[in-house]
Amino acid sequence: MMTKEIIELENKHILNTYGRVKVAFTRGRGVYLEDPEGKKYLDFLSGLGVNILGHSHPALVAAIEKQAKELIHTSNLYYTEPQARLAAELNGYFGPAKVFFANSGAEANEGALKIALKHMPPEKTGIIAMKKSFHGRTVGALSLTGQEVYHAGFESLLLKNVAYADYNDAASLESLFSKNTAAVIIEAIQGEGGVNPGLPAFLRKARELCDRHGAVMIIDEIQAGMGRTGKFFAFSHYGIEPDIVTLAKGLAGGVPAGAVLIKDEIARSMTKGSHASTFGGNPLAASCSLAVLKTLKDEGLMDNAARMGALIMDAFSVMKGKYPFIKDIRGKGLMIGIELDIDAAPVVEKALGEGLLINAIKNRVIRMLPPLVLGEKDAEKGIGIIDGILQKY
Ligand code: PLP
Repeated sequence: MMTKEIIELENKHILNTYGRVKVAFTRGRGVYLEDPEGKKYLDFLSGLGVNILGHSHPALVAAIEKQAKELIHTSNLYYTEPQARLAAELNGYFGPAKVFFANSGAEANEGALKIALKHMPPEKTGIIAMKKSFHGRTVGALSLTGQEVYHAGFESLLLKNVAYADYNDAASLESLFSKNTAAVIIEAIQGEGGVNPGLPAFLRKARELCDRHGAVMIIDEIQAGMGRTGKFFAFSHYGIEPDIVTLAKGLAGGVPAGAVLIKDEIARSMTKGSHASTFGGNPLAASCSLAVLKTLKDEGLMDNAARMGALIMDAFSVMKGKYPFIKDIRGKGLMIGIELDIDAAPVVEKALGEGLLINAIKNRVIRMLPPLVLGEKDAEKGIGIIDGILQKY
């Protein structure tokens, strides 16, 4: 099918919730995607932080092929080797801990919320989330998301025990704490909220307040985790250790997967039947995730993310000297936001025309989340395209 036909078919049948770009993709290789007409696009978004190995990485394709021939799904009534091995691998990064497998970011955060609350005495029910945060669209995760635009129309469904602190404002956070605070959820670097890196003093204060008030600290690493910022977890840049971490997006390189990592002392509160997921950690997704974790190490992709991220941010620092409408350059590794004094959408549209995928958030921020396999030549190519567009302003 050609792009036009795909769009027509979809518009007729799919719920109208996505403001899609009028492009369809049929193929992906490395850091490039291809549309049905054969046009190639340099992918600086990686499916919104998902395809961390790029498209159709041989290690991921081989893992899918091998596991699909052996066993795709059994349910969580039974033990499977890939799930057990994956949990052990993840605990190598966060242990001593236990893992709960989910299928998406929202679902991982829902799990984290239940686990944190189950650990608390009944009177301790308060949750503190951040303004400008994004944690997903299901009811619990939506309640944690501190942006009214996502709440609109669903207010009656939202949890009443969530308060929102100003991100990076320790006084605001402290003012919301009480003896009834059960949990705090924070992104170490906010993604959808504008690519806002946490301030070290703020995140350390959050840890200290959680300790002082006996609250669980949850860090949502769904966008920033899995090596994107140059370290496996973004919180590791800050010298803090949360009690619960959520992962999804890049966890299985494009196959749906999510996980909640829970320190042992909190995990003990959960009992048989207290949470479950039919698909969570199924053999196919878990095998993909094992392949992703191995490739991250084998190919030195976390170091690459740090290097390529520095290259891109340095190039934008030079552009900032040339273009007064570049207001701010933010991020870490390959999680980058460029705040402009002009609307970002037209820049994004022109980039698309020139075969580069980026997106606009908060109207004026260009966001880039390239695959961690990005090489220098393609990084420079993407930078060159944006530079060429900005030059004409
Ligand atoms: N948490 C963060 C930090 C995210 O960026 C996202 C998605 O963008 C989510 C949670 C929700 O993930 P999902 O769309 O897989 O439910």
